[in-house]
Amino acid sequence: MTQNTFIDLRSDTVTLPTEGMRAAMAAAPVGDDQYGEDPSINALQERVADMLGKEAALWLASGTMANQVALRALTHHGDDVIVGDESHAVWHEAGASAANSGVQFTVIGRHGLFTADEFVRALKPRGHMLYPGTSLVQVENTHNRGGGVVFPQADAETICAAARQHNVASFLDGARLWNAAAVTGTPPAALAEPFDLTAVALSKGLGAPAGSLLAGSRALMERCLRFRRMFGGAMRQAGILAAGGLYALEYHLKRLPEDHANAARIAARLAASSAIQLDSSTVQTNIIVFDLADGAPDAAAVVVSAKQAGVLLFPFGVRRLRVVTHLNVTAEQCEAAAETLVSIAERRLP
Ligand SMILES: *Cc1c(COP(=O)(O)O)cnc(C)c1O
Repeated sequence: MTQNTFIDLRSDTVTLPTEGMRAAMAAAPVGDDQYGEDPSINALQERVADMLGKEAALWLASGTMANQVALRALTHHGDDVIVGDESHAVWHEAGASAANSGVQFTVIGRHGLFTADEFVRALKPRGHMLYPGTSLVQVENTHNRGGGVVFPQADAETICAAARQHNVASFLDGARLWNAAAVTGTPPAALAEPFDLTAVALSKGLGAPAGSLLAGSRALMERCLRFRRMFGGAMRQAGILAAGGLYALEYHLKRLPEDHANAARIAARLAASSAIQLDSSTVQTNIIVFDLADGAPDAAAVVVSAKQAGVLLFPFGVRRLRVVTHLNVTAEQCEAAAETLVSIAERRLP
């Protein structure tokens, strides 16, 4: 295992496979997954379907592909899709939803959260001469750009009930659903229960090198299987990757609270500085999104100075930054990084 000398807080995707994970991958039984013959893929799909309380699950190369296949399976060209503001689908998927599925987004709510009332108000009936009919509502839990916040389950339930009433499908982008489950103590199956279709990632906080899964009814998985092929995402001996995912579920899932504790440590230090504006109530899991106060350097300048001081993080706006904790950073490193960021933010402008 190699680890760079930076304290890398850019994302939980930078995590490296551990020795144990590499050994499991090397030893994985494999076969041709397009023939349904990869035992490791099959085991992972069954395990995740079980954990999410769904009939079946399907392996996909990335979270973006999972989201794109979900969207393609649940909508038609010209449809309207309702999502929370700052959603991954709107910001981080290169416009794929418009390009692949020909849908438009209606963005509602604040900081990634919204209510059933807001959903129903934004809903456009299908069959109307003018309206783009709403066929899908999408929830992100935890919400990345919202600062890793947990989507309130009571809202998820009323939104999905309203969706069913209006014949609208529901999709949960749960790339970090494991974090939501860890912090709330609610099993992933309960969080996924209201939704027709759920995506989860193995390559974020769980630390596997690649892979996401979709889970839902058997009939819906058949549809997703076809679109996965259409999008070029069907693989062959992908069990080598699946074995990394199975290992992560076995050994890394239970350590997510460490990441949450480390994020809380960083947040407490940042919030104490007058150069930083941080709503501590948003720091619920492993992500911290914060703003630089007037008079502090801007986000780009902080990123450059932090890198010189050995800390990596991402700008999320002109004066906004994101920090993410994960299995390759220790509590001590997180405390040191927070000190570094505060001292940079408190430097006066030249
Ligand atoms: C990272 C992420 C994705 C996409 O995953 P990739 O594997 O990077 O394509 C989708 N949704 C959310 C909420 C994410 O954080």
